[in-house]
Amino acid sequence: MAIQTGNFKITQVEKSRIHQLDPNNIVFGSLFTDHMLVADYINGEWKTPEILPYGKMEFTPALASLHYGQAIFEGMKAFKSDSDEVFMFRPLENFKRFNISAERMSMPAVPEEIFIGGLEELLRLDAAWVPKGGDNSLYLRPFMFSTDEYLGVRTSLNYRFMIIMSPAGPYYSKPPKVKVETEYIRAAPGGVGYAKCAGNYAASLYPAKLAADQGYTQLLWTDAIEHKYFEESGTMNVMFVKDGKIITPAVSTTILKGTTRAALLQIAKDEGYTIEERKVSVEEIINGIKDGSVTEIFGVGTAVVVSPFSAVGYEGVDLELPEITEKSVSQILKTILNNIRTGKIADKYGWVWKVA
Ligand SMILES: *Cc1c(COP(=O)(O)O)cnc(C)c1O
Repeated sequence: MAIQTGNFKITQVEKSRIHQLDPNNIVFGSLFTDHMLVADYINGEWKTPEILPYGKMEFTPALASLHYGQAIFEGMKAFKSDSDEVFMFRPLENFKRFNISAERMSMPAVPEEIFIGGLEELLRLDAAWVPKGGDNSLYLRPFMFSTDEYLGVRTSLNYRFMIIMSPAGPYYSKPPKVKVETEYIRAAPGGVGYAKCAGNYAASLYPAKLAADQGYTQLLWTDAIEHKYFEESGTMNVMFVKDGKIITPAVSTTILKGTTRAALLQIAKDEGYTIEERKVSVEEIINGIKDGSVTEIFGVGTAVVVSPFSAVGYEGVDLELPEITEKSVSQILKTILNNIRTGKIADKYGWVWKVA
């Protein structure tokens, strides 16, 4: 696919900060690469994107997005192969989803030349920041927010699209204990659950804090109407292994359609697993943990990749899940996905996007 990348105004750093990166001790989302991309949408058109040294920006206190939350983002990863090639994983899927989020939040679509071309240009400049090995990668964060200096509630006229990048290692140090949330909700039909908009995460923080006070690392959200069916978890979709089959909630307008979920389901199908995408009731899973038919529950998403849960808390009772081993479905799928993404095994799906 021809992506024109000659249309960026580039100002390179005088001196790289790469010495700040210790690949053996990466704290997620805390260190940023040398460069960032900034593209402004003004008077109905996208201006020439600029690549600049990563740094602070100045804003008016009347910035519309700070008040009314027109803000969306994506989360993606770049990987380095043993021979130092840099790969993105299915970036067009994130590009499409970004513009679906934009539409729902009444924001302009970002052109492919800016979104994909910008990622490629940044990855060429900051290739040294893509850490190698194990669970390491470079986390890519495209995002957009309204920039009107105006306090009336309306669709903004001006926006800024940006990309920043941050080295990432393993997400959780140990398998999280999760709480089935039956009071607060993440998303309701007709709402914005399928959009990666900032407000969804703001609204999740208070219930997550209450759960953390009770000793839980994460929430398992249930449906807004009956609290009877599982939806997803934090920034992850969720999968269950029951009687050897993989069961996962079917995507809907209240569930974020994860790219990791889609890739893992495809891999699992090709590995011969039976997949069921359907409504998954809390009752079915709780009973299944108790009678031993549910052997694994794991979250799947770009940040965590595959994250098996150690225990599930429901109505004040913690139910332990069996220990994870190399033979666990979650680990088998994770290894295949990681090997594809880092070029260790052949990519028969055409998922890997080489940054030239
Ligand atoms: C980002 C996200 C996911 C996972 O999506 P991926 O494309 O796999 O990273 C799942 N749920 C929510 C709420 C998310 O924000």
